[in-house]
Amino acid sequence: MSVDKVKCIKCGQEINRYDVICPNCNKVQGKSKVCPDCKGRILASEKVCPICGNKKFKKSKLIIVIIAVIIICLLLAVALQKVINNEEIISEKMNVDNEQAIVIKDVLEDVGITTINEIERDESLDDYYLNGGTDKGYRIAFRGHDTNSVPDTVIINITKDGKILVIKEPMGDVLYENDKVLNKIN
Ligand SMILES: [Zn+2]
Ligand SMILES: [Zn+2]
Repeated sequence: MSVDKVKCIKCGQEINRYDVICPNCNKVQGKSKVCPDCKGRILASEKVCPICGNKKFKKSKLIIVIIAVIIICLLLAVALQKVINNEEIISEKMNVDNEQAIVIKDVLEDVGITTINEIERDESLDDYYLNGGTDKGYRIAFRGHDTNSVPDTVIINITKDGKILVIKEPMGDVLYENDKVLNKIN
């Protein structure tokens, strides 16, 4: 047991180093914490418990750092998974190859859509220019919603070669047309 002596910050009386309160003048010596080993109340600034000699404070910090790193890695993995999922859902639901799916994904990102939740084929949207075209219409839902949520859905028409003709909000602005981003999702 280490019983170093220190001086009270108020009255100057010699007191035990682990005294959080001065026995002479009752002055609190600073912020305190409980030693996880001996459960003694000691000053928060102590790196080693002056009562029992516990040196575990640094180790617990290391554990917190390790846990934080693991959590960050998991979040990165989830984010990466989402990017991969976007391409997969585009290529699967819109019947395009991988390369076209990446182009569509990139253009969607350019208009402000980073996470796709649902893609739904909608034949009533086909032939966007009503000129007998063979382009196909789809509804793409994002921001965690399905295609029933109009503010969180865009309409996209692609040619049979997988090229984007237009992306528009169901009741609003054209976001992309003629290979150009015209507006972004709010
Ligand atoms: Zn004192
Ligand atoms: Zn202790």
